[in-house]
Amino acid sequence: MVYIVMDLEWTQSSEGKAGAVPGMPFEVIEIGAVKLKEDRNVISCFQRLIKPRVYKKLHYAARELLHIKEQDLENGGDFPAVMEEFLLWCRQEGEEYRFCTWGSMDLMELQRNCHYYEMDSCFSIPLFYYDLQKIFSIEYAGGKESLSLEHAVELLGLKKQEDFHRALTDAEYTAEILKKLSPDKLRQYYSVDYYHAPLSRKQEIQIEFPGYVKHVFQRYETREKALKDRAARIVRCPLCGKRAARKIRWYSNNMKNYYSLSECKEHGFLRGKLHVRKTDGGDTYIVKTIRRLSGQEAQDMKDCCRKQRERKKKHKAIK
Ligand SMILES: [Zn+2]
Repeated sequence: MVYIVMDLEWTQSSEGKAGAVPGMPFEVIEIGAVKLKEDRNVISCFQRLIKPRVYKKLHYAARELLHIKEQDLENGGDFPAVMEEFLLWCRQEGEEYRFCTWGSMDLMELQRNCHYYEMDSCFSIPLFYYDLQKIFSIEYAGGKESLSLEHAVELLGLKKQEDFHRALTDAEYTAEILKKLSPDKLRQYYSVDYYHAPLSRKQEIQIEFPGYVKHVFQRYETREKALKDRAARIVRCPLCGKRAARKIRWYSNNMKNYYSLSECKEHGFLRGKLHVRKTDGGDTYIVKTIRRLSGQEAQDMKDCCRKQRERKKKHKAIK
């Protein structure tokens, strides 16, 4: 297997949201990538500029942030041709390859651009990848924070030679970070891309991580239908597969995330989380995470829930 560490630069509508093409908020104008062997030695690099077709006038934010001249973009390639060249380069060794990115946005935006040009078969479904921002955070920052690439480079004391915000430079910095990550963490914390949410039960995805399990459910036309899916609401113990007894029913504070507390007689408390997401086409799908909790964590959750209920009651009384 080879690692493809990829970074993109993009532009957006200079008129803001009003001028944006639905499903394609950002237009990719540069692809930079570094290919590494499994032992993490660099094999080769890729860098191409793309002439924008949709958002031709460079957005002021991009103009300030990037170090690309509009004249250079004029000489850039067409997206479909560059994309084909890029995929050929990815496959060059004839080995399976896995994308590595800083955060989850780059693969999402690249697929949106592919979709615009009717190139939906560029990526495998499901698309597994390594989100190095997430893995770096787990290994170096307790898993809570999302650090910028520049911040991570500083934290590791890596040499800063070139400016950030050019695709290849950022990919090179990201590749340097990849070299520092523990192979075990990398193997354990891979990510799955959500751009192509499952179309059917058969396509649903389940991944096990240390301490928790993630399940991506099939898409539905409406949010109501998605939330009614019994398979999504049931909490099974990740260790024995048995259905766990509900202690706190599903509740939500923001309509985006739902939580519940259950208990497996044998293996203890389980926190369920339903994350409601939308596809570009307007369908709804649910990502469920089941995490094991200690007795103390379960108690904290109960206390927190009780306080919330009391607060709501009080609020009503005052009204
Ligand atoms: Zn169990």
